[in-house]
Amino acid sequence: MPIDVPKIDQLYQILPDEPLLMMGAGPVPIPEAVAAANGIVINHLGEAMARVIDQVKRMARYIFQTQSEWIVGVAGPGSAAMEMAVANLVWPGTRVLSICNGFFSNRLAEMAMRAGAEVEQLKITDGISADPKQVAEILDRFRPEVLTIVQGETSNTTHNHALDEIAAVAREHRCLVIVDAVCTLSTMPLKMDEWGVDAVITGGQKGLSSIPGVSLVAFSDAAWKRINARTEPMRHWTLDASLATKFWHQASYHYTAPVSGLLALHEAMRLVCEETLEHRYTRHQHCSLALQAGIEALGLKLYVQPPARLNSVLGIALPETLQPAEVCRHISHNYRVEIASSFGPHIVRIGQMGEQCRVHNLFRTLHAFGSTFKDLGVKVDVPAGMAALENRLQDLKATQP
Ligand SMILES: *Cc1c(COP(=O)(O)O)cnc(C)c1O
Repeated sequence: MPIDVPKIDQLYQILPDEPLLMMGAGPVPIPEAVAAANGIVINHLGEAMARVIDQVKRMARYIFQTQSEWIVGVAGPGSAAMEMAVANLVWPGTRVLSICNGFFSNRLAEMAMRAGAEVEQLKITDGISADPKQVAEILDRFRPEVLTIVQGETSNTTHNHALDEIAAVAREHRCLVIVDAVCTLSTMPLKMDEWGVDAVITGGQKGLSSIPGVSLVAFSDAAWKRINARTEPMRHWTLDASLATKFWHQASYHYTAPVSGLLALHEAMRLVCEETLEHRYTRHQHCSLALQAGIEALGLKLYVQPPARLNSVLGIALPETLQPAEVCRHISHNYRVEIASSFGPHIVRIGQMGEQCRVHNLFRTLHAFGSTFKDLGVKVDVPAGMAALENRLQDLKATQP
């Protein structure tokens, strides 16, 4: 029997009639310049690409706040960058302390276990930040060589706000620190060198507002020394950081680089530099705080209390009567706004990363969100929510120099 040509829809038959406003936990909307760059294919080993890579590394040093030369990219999701950081610094027998705040930080622990490490997990309740004193106690007793931690735990919207102190105490114990900043990079301060972080992981589709599928890792000199000194063979060929320097430092062939995605990332990072980190952090903070005020004025509850509340992704507690999937389906079908459900807690999540933090997106999202609850039979005060959003934005603007 021959296998017939399948009947395939054209894309316009699959996509909704009106584009969805992507306000979930990533991917996030991308600027025009990023979309245009993503439509271009060039030689992955030509002069133009060498210049792009040189600039991506220079911009990464600014965005990660590091002087390190050891910036490498990977064709893959944020998880590939996580695995690149872990698999290069960890091998059978390495003692790893994993600070586990939830789904993504647990993933770092699992990656370390799969790399053969002896992993101790510090499991932290949802909505609580890691405590530097508690971490110090484990460092004293367990003497890990590597610590893994997430800056913003996207799954339950917790912020490890004492990251700088935790990195400092790890450094005192001569323990290297791997930070997952996939969700948070360029949305809030992260000072790799000043805080003494040894590997920072990011993806494209969240804080940086690029496309998914191209990710970066920055290694410190100390981390790079450990990679160079390892005698255990690196099990992953594609994720081998030393091999990656062929493309990232010698303009030669490791594997065919994701050229379009790199051009998109270049544009996204260029826009971060043009805006400057300082202004970008302020924009994110103001938008997120105003949206939080709006959600609370609707009469709804945020899942995490400050100071552990993550500004980059907000978790909103749902009444017992509503299911996360139902809320997400309703707001998407009826208002063309996409938000995220959850990996466990009874919440839905609204992102505040990159292009999501634009005032017009906040108004549309809050209106759609409040109206969704009303439609589903939950009493909320939409006009009060909208007024609180506007008032908070005005107040925050007034506090600016
Ligand atoms: C999204 C996310 C990841 C995973 O990124 P993928 O691109 O889905 O692999 C890891 N860590 C954090 C904190 C995230 O928000």
